[in-house]
Amino acid sequence: MSGGLVTAAYIVAAILFIFSLAGLSKHETSKQGNIFGISGMAIALIATILGPDTANVGWLLVAMVIGGAIGIHLARKVEMTEMPELVAILHSFVGLAAVLVGYNSYIDHPPGLPAIMENIHLTEVFLGVFIGAVTFTGSVVAFGKLRGKISSRPLMLPHRHRLNLLALVVSAALLIAFVRTESGGVQVFALLIMTLIALVFGWHLVASIGGADMPVVVSMLNSYSGWAAAAAGFMLSNDLLIVTGALVGSSGAILSYIMCKAMNRSFISVIAGGFGTDSSSSGETAEVGEHREITVQDTAELLKNSTSVIITPGYGMAVAQAQYPVAEITEKLRARGIKVRFGIHPVAGRLPGHMNVLLAEAKVPYDIVLEMDEINDDFADTDTVLVIGANDTVNPAAQEDPRSPIAGMPVLEVWKAQSVVVFKRSMNTGYAGVQNPLFFKENTQMLFGDAKATVDAILKAL
Ligand code: NDP
Repeated sequence: MSGGLVTAAYIVAAILFIFSLAGLSKHETSKQGNIFGISGMAIALIATILGPDTANVGWLLVAMVIGGAIGIHLARKVEMTEMPELVAILHSFVGLAAVLVGYNSYIDHPPGLPAIMENIHLTEVFLGVFIGAVTFTGSVVAFGKLRGKISSRPLMLPHRHRLNLLALVVSAALLIAFVRTESGGVQVFALLIMTLIALVFGWHLVASIGGADMPVVVSMLNSYSGWAAAAAGFMLSNDLLIVTGALVGSSGAILSYIMCKAMNRSFISVIAGGFGTDSSSSGETAEVGEHREITVQDTAELLKNSTSVIITPGYGMAVAQAQYPVAEITEKLRARGIKVRFGIHPVAGRLPGHMNVLLAEAKVPYDIVLEMDEINDDFADTDTVLVIGANDTVNPAAQEDPRSPIAGMPVLEVWKAQSVVVFKRSMNTGYAGVQNPLFFKENTQMLFGDAKATVDAILKAL
């Protein structure tokens, strides 16, 4: 394939990626968006493999078959609740690839470039390795936190913001040394030390962010992985990689910004490694009163005697796969003339839109599934709220305790309803590791057990 043809194929692929992003921004067109993305990627791969710069195609194919087989196996096996972990670990691969491309590009660079080109090349290498290394360890920590292998509590090293600043300043000094020096030894030393600093910096940056801010972290790492890919594109002089990296980088940054707005977080604070985590009550898990329990039978009675019901699902409904019996209960109650609606928090579950996907899967009608902003004013006029496997997203501490790690985050104001029934297995905290005063309010009763089992039992009782 000639160079011109490869460039033409790259332009088509880039346009398909843009269509893909546009398609993925709406439920109705998301399948189409996926197909555009897959087609763009297929064109990009074929053009790169057959292009004039590619040698040893046999090895490439072997690597692709192995990588593809692992990818297909993981994608088929992964549960919906494990999706963010998968995304996080995939981001770490992009980071690692950028580091390796950077080192390769440094070792393999053509001698005798004009001074200015040489400086640009070295700067690309340095920045590519830096962004890649930060993305790599940051994503590994995010993976650990999402999988529960690493505590979701923020790591609070003394002077942590100063440490971050120091890492940046030292890395900038190393960049100057790396570009200015004539000595290969000094260059290798600067590159190695910066890589170490960037690995630790990435680790620390994500480790110091609390559980409640993880949605932003995941989309932020998505953005970093895009910039890492763009940096690799510059080093490899591959235009499509630059364009694709920039698309991922900027769309990830926009998503992070939107999520920060939805959660009332400062974008800069989150990307600088931890928001509101200086609060003295962070991680407080002590119980704050007595809780009351309710039986399945009494919950069924309560529902029968209600005229309006709101269901607020969360991560526990996804784990228990309780969406199907929840949909059946909804149908039964609606058949009795009871007004049933769903209140969806923007970060309920473990991925954006998680609850909407589950409820759509269980065929709950779209028009009774409302966003937080649409339903928050209606709780006061509601008889019964069923909180099914949600915790952080219905925590009044966000409004009532300014020292709470989730202070300021908008939440579903379920406690304003006449009665609230909370479905969960224990008094454990949610993902943010913060105690929930809702459980101890006068109008709240706990229904303990696996959400699917309890919802099934209520269905029978109805
Ligand atoms: P939470 O994670 O706050 O709480 C879920 C609750 O479900 C737990 O308290 C748990 O209690 C209960 N639970 C777990 N399994 C079951 C089960 N089988 N049956 C019944 N209950 C169960 O959920 P929310 O959805 O309210 O909040 C989401 C949290 O995740 C937020 O902190 C958000 O920031 C974070 N997050 C969200 C992401 C996103 O993009 N949406 C991404 C990453 C993090 P118990 O153990 O007692 O049963």
